[in-house]
Amino acid sequence: MAHLSLTNVGKTYGGSAQAAVADVNIEIRDGEFIVLVGPSGCGKSTLLRMVAGLETITQGEIRIGERLVNQLDPAERDIAMVFQNYALYPHMSVRDNMAYGLKNRGESKAVIEERVAEAARMLELRPYLNRKPRALSGGQRQRVAMGRAIVRQPSAFLFDEPLSNLDAKLRVSMRMEIRKLQKRLGTTSLYVTHDQLEAMTLADRLVVLNGGRVEQIGAPLEVYRAP
Ligand code: ADP
Ligand code: ADP
Repeated sequence: MAHLSLTNVGKTYGGSAQAAVADVNIEIRDGEFIVLVGPSGCGKSTLLRMVAGLETITQGEIRIGERLVNQLDPAERDIAMVFQNYALYPHMSVRDNMAYGLKNRGESKAVIEERVAEAARMLELRPYLNRKPRALSGGQRQRVAMGRAIVRQPSAFLFDEPLSNLDAKLRVSMRMEIRKLQKRLGTTSLYVTHDQLEAMTLADRLVVLNGGRVEQIGAPLEVYRAP
């Protein structure tokens, strides 16, 4: 686990006159679940990608614990991302998809087996471990993507609209599952969505972005208070 601190963070893309993200200050406590909301184009993905170390930071700094994100090697970054498009390897079984990152990291067979088994149990994927992704439903694929993140036991999760490709009913049940997992794992999380119910259900605190700037930060009921 780790806290994340964003100090005066900004990003201006090369060739662009306007900042995509500007002056963002957020302290994310150890184990806190933060949801980023705001209209399309307000900078949510850019901010998430900067925290992931996938995008350069052009203003301010982002720290994971005490360390600057942009000074960490990818292998040290210790952050797991879950995307809307799953990004599963089609030719690999569910088991191998989940094990892949750990294998790359050189974990022992025993550790890999134990972690994959544990994640499969949590996510109710045990019957599907030998299947290929194409033989799974959308919800099952999304659970595999989460399993792949969980087995790494990262110090933080980053979610980029992970449920937006699912139908409405599945979104509700996956929302509940993510909430349960969060309670159980207590991993610091930063979650991007444009779904208000998702935001309300999951967030310890909401961050509302507008035009690349933080407009509001607070508990869901403070932010979505009836006018
Ligand atoms: P959101 O995730 O909230 O929809 P983004 O972070 O994707 O917002 O985009 C924020 C702003 O940055 C938008 O104006 C978008 O057009 C711009 N932007 C995003 N990615 C790039 C890029 N690779 N190059 C230039 N501009 C970009
Ligand atoms: P690891 O699981 O150890 O991160 P990967 O092969 O998944 O190894 O990561 C390769 C590169 O992709 C790294 O440089 C990392 O920054 C980036 N990365 C890590 N996780 C993801 C992800 N889920 N999707 C896209 N890129 C990622």
